[in-house]
Amino acid sequence: MAKGRRGFGEGLARPVSDRRRAASHRRPGRRGRQGRIWSSPERQIRLKHVLKGDGRLGHDLDPLDHAPKDACGVFGVWAPGEDVSKLTYFGLYALQHRGQESAGMAVSEGSRILVYKDMGLVAQVFDESVLRTLRGHLAIGHCRYSTTGSSVWENAQPTLSSTEAGGLAMAHNGNLINTPELAARLPADSIRATTDTEVLTALLSRHGGAGLEDAAAALLPQVKGAYSLVFMDERTLYAARDPQGIRPLVLGRLEKGWVVASETAALDIVGAAFVREVEPGELITIDERGVRSRRFALADPKGCLFEYVYLARPDTTIAGRGVQVTRVEVGRTLAREHPVEADLVIPTPESGTPAAIGYAAESGIPYGQGLVKNSYVGRTFIQPSQTIRQLGIRLKLNPLKEVVAGKRLVVVDDSIVRGNTQRAIVRMLREAGATEVHVRISSPPVAWPCFYGIDFATRAELIAGSLSVEEICESIGADSLGYISLEGLIKATTLPAERLCRACFDGTYPIPIDRDNVGKYVLEAAGQ
Ligand code: SF4
Repeated sequence: MAKGRRGFGEGLARPVSDRRRAASHRRPGRRGRQGRIWSSPERQIRLKHVLKGDGRLGHDLDPLDHAPKDACGVFGVWAPGEDVSKLTYFGLYALQHRGQESAGMAVSEGSRILVYKDMGLVAQVFDESVLRTLRGHLAIGHCRYSTTGSSVWENAQPTLSSTEAGGLAMAHNGNLINTPELAARLPADSIRATTDTEVLTALLSRHGGAGLEDAAAALLPQVKGAYSLVFMDERTLYAARDPQGIRPLVLGRLEKGWVVASETAALDIVGAAFVREVEPGELITIDERGVRSRRFALADPKGCLFEYVYLARPDTTIAGRGVQVTRVEVGRTLAREHPVEADLVIPTPESGTPAAIGYAAESGIPYGQGLVKNSYVGRTFIQPSQTIRQLGIRLKLNPLKEVVAGKRLVVVDDSIVRGNTQRAIVRMLREAGATEVHVRISSPPVAWPCFYGIDFATRAELIAGSLSVEEICESIGADSLGYISLEGLIKATTLPAERLCRACFDGTYPIPIDRDNVGKYVLEAAGQ
């Protein structure tokens, strides 16, 4: 069966037709998008096998110090009469920041589920001709950053499986923490991929005659960890969220149907009105009879605090509060907690921008742009040469010498992981003529790894796991360093502390972790 796309009908895999093969003609590293180059004398040469990039330049420019990475964006739509593949495409496009390794969607017109997925960004995976072949009235979509299982085509989502009644496709944001225990319930060799989502799909597809809704309501209470799920059979869209509601998931309304998405920003972009969040421990079913809700577990909300700091889009709303407003308030608190005499407040673009605005407003120090970000980092897919790699951070950020020279700077960033990035920024600003560089961070020190779907380093690799704030300041070469307090950050969200997961800051994990059974390669290590 062709790689880009797989089809299921009435529970049986069918060979793809020639037309469908045309829609699944690409796989990165093997076959490429048609490209064109111009040469002199003016002559057009068509390139048939231009290798498609994998986004590594953007993500692994400094492989020892990447920013925290999210574990995916999910999107689902049930809307007869609408172009659901286009809606899913634009929904995923809005959620691209949550996962940039692979993208995919599953579509059904009522009798058969088709899945198309590939490595790369949403705009690389899909084009008009692919979307034209994905017709139906319901669809789910996914953009992935890998937290369980390698970043390979087989692990891209949506997953697809057959059931007694037909097909099942699933997309998942989050990370399970009892994957080996769940995988042990499956017959050997029953899963193809090495992801927690594949295990969940395989378990759910073995529901016998119970029906997917009842099967999910029975299975999900046994699943531990973070999961915001969208899944579907040929006629029905489902959405579910773990009892802690660690990752976000929202429900929206279209004129002719319904949408579920990781963030409210994706609803805005497809013209859906926000209805409400999918509640922690809630399973939602959407079909021609409307939206039905049932609870499979008591809610024990522990939303991810880091979504406010960095992960979610600034134009997203979480628990009724805009992320941008929260980040600006964090900056104000940071200015009160860590004041300093300076001439200019600058952000590390773009994630430090709202907090820098808040810091400047509260402190009265002028706000300016002292670092320019190359907006297209992450969109070029040529591997950097060794010379370029040594320039490191400059490929992403470049200082505005006229702005920073001779100034005492406050540089506001969202977090410090290993410290390499901040060390490079401080050095670069000093070389550009800054007389003082004071670093302010809009999260508390990240000292503990996340097991619920964010890819931080291990505790040993996190700079705050072993060094004090003073030692980190010295390590990055700043004149001073100040992190917002955990209390200050929580207060800015306006949520009670007990409703938030903050384990990466204080080491208190709301869902107990068995460290022998977690890790990105837990299934690969077990030989699954
Ligand atoms: S450990 Fe940190 S990143 Fe992970 S869910 Fe909790 S708050 Fe979010």
